[in-house]
This record gives sequence, structure tokens and C-alpha cells, in this order.
Amino acid sequence: MTTLTLITGANRGIGLEFCRQSLAHGDTVIACCRQPEQADALQQLALSHPNQLELVALELGEPAQFDNLCAYLGERKLDRLICNAGVYGPKGLPLGEYQADHFEQVMKINVTAPMLLVQALHPHLAGDAKVALLSSKMGSITDNGSGGSYVYRASKAALNAIGKSLAIDLQPQGTSVVLFHPGWVQTAMGGSNALITPEVSVRGMRHVLEQLSLIDSGKFINYDGVELPW
Ligand code: NDP
Repeated sequence: MTTLTLITGANRGIGLEFCRQSLAHGDTVIACCRQPEQADALQQLALSHPNQLELVALELGEPAQFDNLCAYLGERKLDRLICNAGVYGPKGLPLGEYQADHFEQVMKINVTAPMLLVQALHPHLAGDAKVALLSSKMGSITDNGSGGSYVYRASKAALNAIGKSLAIDLQPQGTSVVLFHPGWVQTAMGGSNALITPEVSVRGMRHVLEQLSLIDSGKFINYDGVELPW
């Protein structure tokens, strides 16, 4: 049977690479992004993978849309759910200049959205489904040796807490959950000095996902398979 994979933030960066590699592997892919009609790379992929790629509009800041996504799925069950979309928020802001609204959008997209999306979709997960949450080593409190980046760090630490609870709560239905650090990846967010390509990052994460079982559910794992400290 074909693997059914849903990916958020599928139009560029790491999400787009997840689409490419999942399609190459033969998955049926539901690629979610804000504006499918402007997602040129996805449109090209749809042409080269007829009947394998479905483009769905999804604004993660509007959780009411998650119900539409459930209705779109109907009776179909997801084998893989890749909660990839994320935002960084203010870069290089010094202590003294933070405002409450710096937190609001980032928390909404990096924390509230993946939590409510998994909550909405969990009845639509196949028995042995695997959920990947794209976190970051910036969310590791142990690893924080440089301070700053309050908003992004806090959002990914909160996502880690959510992923751990999801792993426990979804265990009875057979769903495994992993929190990924994708590496420092060459994307709009990672910048051109980043150390690895999306291709290398996603190849690693897909390998980890294939090996993932309930025993490893709820772990924080680097793209190369190494477990990370919270
Ligand atoms: P990019 O900035 O390249 O892409 C972000 C994606 O998220 C885009 O598809 C974007 O869509 C989507 N997105 C943002 N806001 C929304 C929204 N409100 N609704 C729907 N989609 C939205 O980031 P990366 O590919 O680099 O990052 C992917 C994930 O990996 C993120 O969660 C990030 O935090 C994490 N990560 C990345 C690292 C890196 O080095 N690159 C390092 C550690 C973690 P749109 O085009 O519409 O804006």
C-alpha cells in the first residue's frame, strides 16, 4: 500500500525537500502551504508526479482551517505527518528591546499550530503512523551556550514539551512521535552560511523516521540519528 504523507510548509526549504524525497520514494504526498497557486516548485513537482502530489492551502495561523483539512482527508489515514512549517521571529534583538507582540506570531506558528494540527489530525492517523515535529537545537536548554534568541528558543522548547506529551498520549493508538533538529540547513531561515543542504538534512531525518518505533517515541533527535539533550 502507498504511504500517505502530509507535510506543512511544503513550498520551500526543508518542507519542499521532504516533498521531493517522499515523492521519489513513492509516497502519495499532501503538500500544505499558504498559497498553492504561487508555489512554483510544488506545481512543477505535481507535473512530474501526476496523481501522486496533492496541493492543499493551509494557513497555520488559522486553526479553523484544520477542520477543513480533516474533511479533505475524509476516510483516508495518514502514515506520516511532517509538521515542518516554522518562523524565526526577531533576529539579533538585544535584551531590552523585546515586546509582547514579538512572541505572539512565533508562538502561534511554532507551538499552537503544530499542537492543534496534530490534535485535529490524530483520528486520521494510521495505526502505525509516525509524526515528525521540526524543532531545533535552539530549543535545547542544555545546549544554550550563547543566550539571546528568546522568542525562537522559547517556541522550540515549548514544542519539545508538546511533542513529549503527544508521544505519551498517542502511544496507545500506535503512533510514534519524534522531535527533530534538522541540522543547520541552507534555507531562507538557515541562511547561506548553513552547514548542510536540505537534501542531506531530509535524507537523514527520513532515515530516522523509517527506523522510529514506539520505543523511541518522544525523543529529540538530530538529523543524523544522534539523540539530543533537552
Ligand atoms: P524556511 O523559512 O525556509 O521555510 C519555512 C516554511 O514555513 C515555509 O514553507 C513557510 O511558508 C512556512 N510557514 C511559515 N509561516 C507559515 C504559516 N503561518 N502558515 C503556513 N506555513 C507557514 O524554513 P526552513 O525550511 O529552514 O525550516 C523548516 C523547519 O525547520 C522550521 O520549523 C524551522 O524552525 C526548523 N529548523 C530549521 C533550521 C535551519 O537551519 N534551516 C534549523 C533548525 C530548525 P511561506 O513560504 O508561505 O512563508
